[in-house]
Amino acid sequence: MPFTGQCRCGQVHVQLQADTLAPLYACHCLNCQRTSGSAFALHILCGERQVEISGDVLMYNHTHEGNTSTHFVCSLCFTRLFNDTTAAPGMRVLRAGILDGSERLTPMAHIWVKRKQPWVSLPEGVAQWQESPTPEAFASAMNTQG
Ligand SMILES: [Zn+2]
Ligand SMILES: [Zn+2]
Repeated sequence: MPFTGQCRCGQVHVQLQADTLAPLYACHCLNCQRTSGSAFALHILCGERQVEISGDVLMYNHTHEGNTSTHFVCSLCFTRLFNDTTAAPGMRVLRAGILDGSERLTPMAHIWVKRKQPWVSLPEGVAQWQESPTPEAFASAMNTQG
């Protein structure tokens, strides 16, 4: 069963083809704070081909420390939808807040917690890293939490 989502204005619809949703994680880095205008961003890492879109999107590239990320936004309301990055070819980072029923999703991990806003308190026992974890460390934390 696909998971569905949309931008704020409803012009762009997103379908995520997956039986179960990949784990949700929160990124507290400064870039995520700036681009979201908020305290953190909610991400789901999925396969590029799992994500289908309908509607007009705009793209922009951002290069940082040798990696280029391509960000996809609604062409009308500029809702951020997802991004690809040369750091993880074939993967796509979906903004989880655009999904229908996102209230049922709980972050399984928090990254860049050294930038976390002081008023955000994390539940005990949830995986967290001061900066970005290695892909191996992230994957093993996701597996142990089911
Ligand atoms: Zn829109
Ligand atoms: Zn971030």
